[in-house]
Amino acid sequence: MTDMVSRSGIPLQIQGVSKRYGNDIHVLREADLSIEPGEHVAIMGPSGCGKSTFLHMVGLLDRPDEGQIVLGTQEVSRASEAVRHRIRNQQIGFIFQSHNLLQEHTAAENVGMPIRIAGGSKREAMRRASMLLEAVGLSDRKKHLPGELSGGEQQRVAIARAFAMGPRLVLADEPTGNLDPRTSNTVFDLFMHLNKALGTTLVVVTHSVELAAQFQRQLHLNDGKFEEQKG
Ligand code: ADP
Repeated sequence: MTDMVSRSGIPLQIQGVSKRYGNDIHVLREADLSIEPGEHVAIMGPSGCGKSTFLHMVGLLDRPDEGQIVLGTQEVSRASEAVRHRIRNQQIGFIFQSHNLLQEHTAAENVGMPIRIAGGSKREAMRRASMLLEAVGLSDRKKHLPGELSGGEQQRVAIARAFAMGPRLVLADEPTGNLDPRTSNTVFDLFMHLNKALGTTLVVVTHSVELAAQFQRQLHLNDGKFEEQKG
C-alpha cells in the first residue's frame, strides 16, 4: 500500500465516443480527446452539455454507446464489470461538488475509508489519512466530524480521500461549485500541489473561467465534441 503514493499519472484517450439518452439527447457525438500522463485539464461548457456524463464514462460509472476509452493501454469501455470495478478502485479518484462525506465518521476515517474497503489495515488507513490530511492543511482536524468542519474544509477532506488509494487519474466535477472565491483558490492550489507532487492526471469540470485559466489546457464541450481553447 505504501508505494501507491508515488505512482505516476496515466494517459487517457477518447476515440469516437458517442452517448445518447433516448432518441433526442445526444450528449457526445464521436468525441475525441487525448490527455497526457500528469496533465491537468479543465472541461467547460454550459449546464446540460454532458460534462458529468463524460466524467462518469471516464470514471467507469457509465458506458458509451460507441467509441473507445483507453486508460493507459487498456480499452475500458467494453471491459467486464469486475475489471472496471478493480480499475475504478485502484486507479481513479473522484471528487464531486457535494463532498459525500460519511457524517458519522471523523475526517481521518473518511479519508482512510477507501483503504479499509480495499482490505487495508486500520493502522495503514490512519497512517495514509494523517499524511493526506496534513497535505491538505487539516492535520489539526483529524478527529472532527464533517458537521464540525466548514464547507471548504469538508471539500479538502474529500480531496484527501480521492487521493487515498494513490490514484493515477483524478476526476473532479465542479469541486469548487459550492465554495466562495477565496476558498475556491485554496482548493485549486491544493489540486495543483497534489498534481505536482504525485504526477496524477487531473480532469476537472468547472464553470469558473478564472479557475479554468490556471489549468494547462481548457477544453469546451460543444455540441458533443471537445474544442481546445487556445491560450
Ligand atoms: P452537465 O454535467 O454538462 O450539466 P449532464 O452530463 O449532467 O450535463 O447531462 C447532459 C444531458 O443529458 C442533459 O440534458 C441531461 O438532462 C441528460 N441526462 C443526463 N443523465 C441522464 C439520464 N440518466 N437519463 C436521461 N437523460 C440524462
